[in-house]
Formats: sequence, C-alpha cells, structure tokens
Amino acid sequence: AKAQGRDVYCFFENSMNVNAHDQLQLLQDLRHALAQGELVLHYQPKFQAPAGPVLGAEALLRWNHPTRGLISPDRFIPLAEKTGLIIPIGEWVLDEACRQMREWVDAGHDEWTIAVNLSPLQFSHDRLVRMVTETLLRHGLEPHYLTLEITESTAMRDVESSLAILSELHAMGVRISIDDFGTGYSSLLYLKRLPATELKIDRGFIRDLTHDTEDAAIVSAIVALGRSLKLGIVAEGVETSEQQEFLTKLGCDSLQGYLLGRPVPAEKFVEADKLLSRP
Ligand code: C2E
Ligand code: CA
Ligand code: CA
Ligand code: CA
Repeated sequence: AKAQGRDVYCFFENSMNVNAHDQLQLLQDLRHALAQGELVLHYQPKFQAPAGPVLGAEALLRWNHPTRGLISPDRFIPLAEKTGLIIPIGEWVLDEACRQMREWVDAGHDEWTIAVNLSPLQFSHDRLVRMVTETLLRHGLEPHYLTLEITESTAMRDVESSLAILSELHAMGVRISIDDFGTGYSSLLYLKRLPATELKIDRGFIRDLTHDTEDAAIVSAIVALGRSLKLGIVAEGVETSEQQEFLTKLGCDSLQGYLLGRPVPAEKFVEADKLLSRP
C-alpha cells in the first residue's frame, strides 16, 4: 500500500511539473501575444429589460493562440495579473474598445456605451486615470460612452483609495459599474458614497433564481438597494426566458446573457443588432 501511495504521489508531482511547465510556456507566449496581435475582443450585448433595445456592449478579451486556439480570459488573466502583464494588456483592451466604440458612434449607434473590465492591479495602478483620459482623447470619444466595470471586491479592497479614483473618473463623466455584485462585502455606508452608475448582479445568484427562494430574496434585496441608491441594476448570465421574466418583474433595468446574446466579434455584433431592430 505504501509503494502504491508513493506512486500516486510521484504521479501527482509529475503532473504538477507538467502543469508548471505548461504555465511557464503560456507565460512566455503571453509576453509575445500583444506584439503578435493575437489578442482580440469579443462583444456581448446588454439589453434594456426584458428584450431590448441594445444599450451597449461589454468587451471581453480572447487570446487567439497560434497552436492552442481561442483561450478564455479565465485561463490567462490571472497569470497576466500575477506578472504585471495585465497593465500593457489592459491598455490595449481599452484602446481597442474605444476605437471600436468610435466606429459604432460614427455609424450612428450613439445611444450605446462600451463596457471595459478592469482587474485589481489595473485599478490600483497610479496611471489609470491618465491612461483613460488619454485613450478617450486619442479616439475623440466623449467619456459618457465608456463604462468601466470593477468587481465589488476590488472596489472594497482599499475603500478610501477606491473612492478617490472612482470620484475622479466619475467627475470626468465615465460610467462605473460594480461587477459581480453580491459576492463581496460592501458596507452600505460606503456603497452610498461610491460614485457608481450601476450594480451588476453576479451570475451566481441568477442561475437558480427561479427555483431557489434564497437566491430570489437576495436578488430582490439587491434591486431594492440599487433603487434606493438610484443606481441602474443589471443582471448577468441570463440564460432562460423564465429568468428574463422574473428579473424584469423584480425591477432589473437591464439584462445580459446567452439567452439574449453571446459574446461575438465586432462584425457579428452589428449584424445581430440589425436583425433585432427589424420591425
Ligand atoms: P465577467 O466580467 O464577470 O464577465 C462575464 C463572463 O460571463 C464572460 O466570460 C461572459 O462570456 C460570461 N457569460 C455571459 N453571459 C453568460 C451566460 O448567460 N451564461 C454563462 N454561463 N456565462 C455567461 P468570459 O468572457 O470568459 O470572461 C471571464 C472573466 O474574465 C470576466 O468575467 C472578467 O472578469 C475577465 N475579463 C474578460 N475580459 C477582460 C478584460 O479585458 N480585462 C480584464 N481585466 N478582465 C477581463
Ligand atoms: Ca464584467
Ligand atoms: Ca460579472
Ligand atoms: Ca465574474
């Protein structure tokens, strides 16, 4: 039994080495990904509840790896965050999203906004506000076209400094969305002072919403909280028409999810909008 135990241990150790080697390779590749133009943005529509019009898009990063194919952000953003690579990558994301938004505004979609996700490291980077300002200027894009999404836990990490950064962005006219809301530990007093535009209810509360009374109670409480603070309420991860109906009845302002639209490349995004807007 002992020998067997050791074999199991060896196997485990080997597979961990393979994993570490894999990660190292991935990191080396990631260092070149930006320069090689392998990063791409997909766009997921956000709808006014229950089913439109389209209010805008969330930019979601994808890595088009030469041998591994399309890699999802959950697999490389933690690595980019750990190594600081998220700073140049994040600058590229914002630039590309603003360039795309400029194109959409020029094509007449001036009622849309573009949402860009910020990681914790990006949010605490001292050049953030300047980088955002410069990027908007470069594309001649008015700040109200941009929504920055930061998670509740990122916003709550260092309350006073978050407040200062968000106030500065808000004063510029940039919109602020508190992502994955309900999973962090917001103090209500602090939330009241936070210059946010909307709360985005975490997908985890939406999944079982229609048959889990606790989740339904939490979502309903978040909607009430958002309303009393005059914030917009967005639900993400809406996959069924039952959820769509339920969330609309609860008073959610906007919905996002596979039911209404998956993340797609920019060309397909406008196509899908045309199909939806047809009488
Ligand atoms: P997130 O900001 O919470 O984004 C929502 C995620 O849920 C996206 O995954 C989206 O594709 C997925 N999703 C949307 N609708 C549904 C649905 O109906 N059902 C299900 N099961 N999933 C849905 P994605 O694109 O893989 O992104 C994962 C996370 O990676 C994002 O979570 C965000 O935290 C991060 N991320 C993505 N792009 C960027 C980026 O440009 N910068 C940074 N810093 N983080 C990013
Ligand atoms: Ca998001
Ligand atoms: Ca989210
Ligand atoms: Ca998330």
